[in-house]
Amino acid sequence: MKIVIAGAGAMGSRFGYMLKKSGQQVILVDSWQKNVDTINQNGLTVDIEGKTELMHFTAYHSKNLKELEVADTIILFVKAMQLSDMLSDLQTIIGDKTRVICLLNGVGHVETIKKYVPYKNIFVAVTMWGAKLVDAGHVLLSGDGNIELQNIEPSEKEIGDQLVDIFNEAELKAKYSNDVMTSIWKKACVNGVLNAICALLDCNLSQFAQIPSNHDFVVKVVTEFATVAKSIDNVELDQESVISFIEQSYSPEKLGTHYPSMHQDLIQNHRLTEVDYINGYVAEKGKEKGIPVPYCELLTLLIHGREKVLGIV
Ligand code: NAD
Repeated sequence: MKIVIAGAGAMGSRFGYMLKKSGQQVILVDSWQKNVDTINQNGLTVDIEGKTELMHFTAYHSKNLKELEVADTIILFVKAMQLSDMLSDLQTIIGDKTRVICLLNGVGHVETIKKYVPYKNIFVAVTMWGAKLVDAGHVLLSGDGNIELQNIEPSEKEIGDQLVDIFNEAELKAKYSNDVMTSIWKKACVNGVLNAICALLDCNLSQFAQIPSNHDFVVKVVTEFATVAKSIDNVELDQESVISFIEQSYSPEKLGTHYPSMHQDLIQNHRLTEVDYINGYVAEKGKEKGIPVPYCELLTLLIHGREKVLGIV
């Protein structure tokens, strides 16, 4: 199976490494020239379980795909704000039968993907695997994870099952889901509560838990996500269980010392955030539907303000 990973950052490198190890033919596509050059010249350096491995790949810059044939499967692992540009670059390798799997965090990506990919060939997934990019062509893999995947068109269930098998052969612990949208919204909601606020306050989860009225804040943001999810995707988020999941993560034995990805992007690395696809998406859809979304609106505004102050935009 010819698999193209579009976005060879932290997660694309993890999936590329694990899929290639299982015997798949994997090609990496990325828009970061230094990353592409490093992988082609030195291979991908993978730190895993206290050891360092080198795995050789052919990597292509996304603006230079002339040599590439149509792919069997494309796995999307760019940041959400890079998605449209990447899909536009991939047009020459997307054929009638190319399956495109979206593994990005956040919501609303199908609306973008369907402009470039036949609807029946889109598969949506959510993963609890993690990864950290050390530098161009160098990734750190730790922890355990899993994947839930589903076809959008009911007729494509068999292909969905095949994709799950491919991930499982690579020990990526995938399962077919009959309701992946609920899991995607749940993850987006957890991110929507913790990511922006920890970036704005420059704090980790334990520190956030010390802030007065933190419970009230969590309840307000979860309610906005749940109301919008129900209204636009008919997804029933179990608000009590999401709140309890969030609040259990504060202890230092769990994720307490963790700085969420938006903190890593904005504060640590001065990169743009995915806020428009998390709180920003809820704010936009809420306004369209007449649902009050003041917390998501304000969090989005403040994150964009911080991006501006830091000179990233
Ligand atoms: P990433 O930032 O590591 O990589 C995304 C893209 O940004 C790649 O194309 C990469 O080459 C490019 N990039 C990275 N660093 C760069 C730099 N310094 N200069 C220029 N370009 C650079 O993103 P990721 O963490 O792999 O996330 C991809 C998607 O997966 C996102 O939607 C994210 O929310 C989601 N996700 C991430 C994790 C995680 O643990 N990292 C876990 C689950 C889901």
